[in-house]
Order: sequence, then structure tokens, then C-alpha cells
Amino acid sequence: MQTIRGFRDILPEKISLWQKVEKEATHLFKSFGFKEIRIPILEKTELFARSIGVVTDIVEKEMYTFEDRKGDKLTLRPEATASIVRSYIQHKMYAKDPIRKFYMIGPMFRRERPQKGRYRQFYQIDAEIFGVESAYVDSQLIFLLNELFKRLGLTGLSAHINSLGCPECRPSFQKALLDFIELKKDSLCENCLRRMDKNPLRILDCKIVDCKKALADAPATLDHLCHDCSSHFDTVKTTLEKQGLDFIVDKSLVRGLDYYTRTAWEIQTTALGAQSAVAGGGRYDGLVKELGGPQTPAIGFAIGFDRLVEIMEQIDNKKEARTIDLFIVSLGDLAMEKGYHWSLELNQAGIRTEMDFRGKSMKALMKRADKLKAQYVLIAREDELKKKTVVIRNMNTKEQVLLAIETLVPELIKIFNK
Ligand SMILES: [Zn+2]
Ligand SMILES: [Zn+2]
Repeated sequence: MQTIRGFRDILPEKISLWQKVEKEATHLFKSFGFKEIRIPILEKTELFARSIGVVTDIVEKEMYTFEDRKGDKLTLRPEATASIVRSYIQHKMYAKDPIRKFYMIGPMFRRERPQKGRYRQFYQIDAEIFGVESAYVDSQLIFLLNELFKRLGLTGLSAHINSLGCPECRPSFQKALLDFIELKKDSLCENCLRRMDKNPLRILDCKIVDCKKALADAPATLDHLCHDCSSHFDTVKTTLEKQGLDFIVDKSLVRGLDYYTRTAWEIQTTALGAQSAVAGGGRYDGLVKELGGPQTPAIGFAIGFDRLVEIMEQIDNKKEARTIDLFIVSLGDLAMEKGYHWSLELNQAGIRTEMDFRGKSMKALMKRADKLKAQYVLIAREDELKKKTVVIRNMNTKEQVLLAIETLVPELIKIFNK
């Protein structure tokens, strides 16, 4: 017997990173005032069709939907937000206190095309805030995500943000979009054409290359924001700036679900070289009302747990492969003496630094650095020392920079603690 395609066991020898993430996330959520909620794995199909939108990839192609023995249409949850909103309404949580913060961690199910690193049972870490319209919670959630990923050792983090507007500004955008699509009709796929009448915004999600090309200059929601949406987005941006977070305004970020309004974002990391998304979120100010509750602003995010663990595994592997942080190549007596004292200061700061005292040649020392699998090499030559500089070479990327020897140690500490 074998697992079903797209499903997998997470074996005991692989579990430690999962537990580490759960522990860090739970800890952080609690310090931000979130409480855990546990929702069922099975819900009425209608819940997802109404919230995610009938004309979306998830609902049209990816949900595990079936009839039970009595003929009720049921679906294995493809995401958490809809269920949490249902729960908020069902238990009239808004009556006692409309402001609620929830988190949940657990499996989701989508029958996606099988490919490497994609699972049909996948895990998400999810957080939602109900009852707050302020743009400060948008930047707060982005901050929280960034903080979590930093604590888990991810580097090169940036937030890609966009504003999708609200029911007030959407009609003007939709009109502009429809006019544009009308001109590009001949280059679009069947799926896009079908969606034109039902849900034109979804066309911007099409993964087909020709469609993407044809839609490259499509109108953007950002150019059609009403006054309130525009000032909301401005506050998000200035707050992120003040928080010192790297962010990129990305007009093409639309996210695959119908219920989003205003701020939408994705967190990307370059921890493994190429950019890849590890989390996404957005505001959905209309969904609670749409599903039968009172008008309640809401916002949330989901972290792709499987992807996150995969990235952390690869970071760990890299770390193991690299046994030392820095190897000092000292050429000449002065360089040897300087290098020796730098190495002591760096060792003291917890940076794994090695050097060679045998007075060997550049070539021999670089070989030694390779053998020790140094991440960086510091090259100190007499002529450069006279100019008060040394060369730092990144052994992964082969990039070199000149550093002034006056501030060398603090600069290096900064590089290694990043
Ligand atoms: Zn608006
Ligand atoms: Zn298409």
C-alpha cells in the first residue's frame, strides 16, 4: 500500500523543523495577542464557493468535493479564512467583542497538478484579525511575518504589496480592464475568454504565457483607487518604511481569491538564491457581511508551511557544508600580525574564523580556504594594507568587496550576523 498521489508522511526524522516553526509561530502570535482557533477539515462546499468565488482556479478545478451518503455536498478545506469567518459569524463572536485575532496551523487540501514541492495535502499557518479597519494592522501583520521568518533564519526578505481597492473604486477599474481585454481578445486562452463575463479580475491570474504577455500592460487597480483606498495604502507604505521593512509595490499582485479588498501582499525570500514566496495575505473587508454577518473589516495571511520547511532544510544543509565563516589569507609579516588580531576579535564575537601561520603562497592558502569550506575569505596583502584596505571574497557568489581596515571587524560582524 502506498500514500495517495500528492499526499505524504512527515517522518519522525524530519519533524524537528516543523516543530521549531510551530513553536516560534505560536510564541510570536501570542505576543501579538492572537488566540488559537481550530476549525473542521470538512465544510459545506457552498462556504468555499461563496467566499473564494465560483470562478476561481481553486473552486473550479482544485477542491476535493464529494457527496456524502445523504447527498450533502462537502469539501475538504482548501484554505482557512472562509472557515474562520464562518465560525466568527456562527458563534456571533462580533456581539461580545468584534475585535478578534485568531491563528491556526493545520492541513489544507487542493487537487493541484502534481509537481515537485507541491502537495495535495499541504500545511498552512494562518492568522486573521477581525474588526479593525486601520492600515496599521496591515503593516503590523507584514511586520509579524517578517519577524517570524527572520527568527527562523530566512534572509533576503521583502514584501510585495498592492492595493486591490474596494467596491467603490472597483467598477471604474473593471471597466478599464474590460475595455483593455476586449482589445486583446484574440491572444487570450479559452479559460480567460470564459472568465471575461463572469470574473474579469481572475484573467490577470492566468498562468498561460501568451495570456501573460497580452496582459502585461493591463490596467492596474492601483491606478483606480478611490480617495479612502489610496490614503489607506499610503499609510501602509509609510508605516512599512518607518518599520525599516523592504517592500516593493507590485501592481500585478492580485492573489487568486475573490474576497480580497485593499492591501494584498506576498513575502518573498532570496534565502536560496532565486526569489520565492513563503506567505501571502490580504484584507477582505466585505467577506463577513457576504457570508451573513455584520459589516466587519478583516485581514489575514497564510504561510506555506511545507515550502517554509523546505527552505529551512536547504539553509541547514548549506550551513553544514560550510564549516567556517571566514578564512584569513595573510600575505607577508604585517598581514600575518594584523590577521592574527582580527581573527581573535572575530572568534570572540562568535564568528568561526581560521587562518594559516605557515607563510604559504596565495594559491596554497586559497586551497586551504576551500578545504575548510570557508564562506568568506579575507585577503590581506602588504600593498593594500598600506592603503588601509583588505579584500573580502564571498566564496559562494565569488563577489569581492574592499573593506577599510579601520572598521573591518564591526563590518564583518554585521555581514555574519545578517
Ligand atoms: Zn476604494
Ligand atoms: Zn488565459
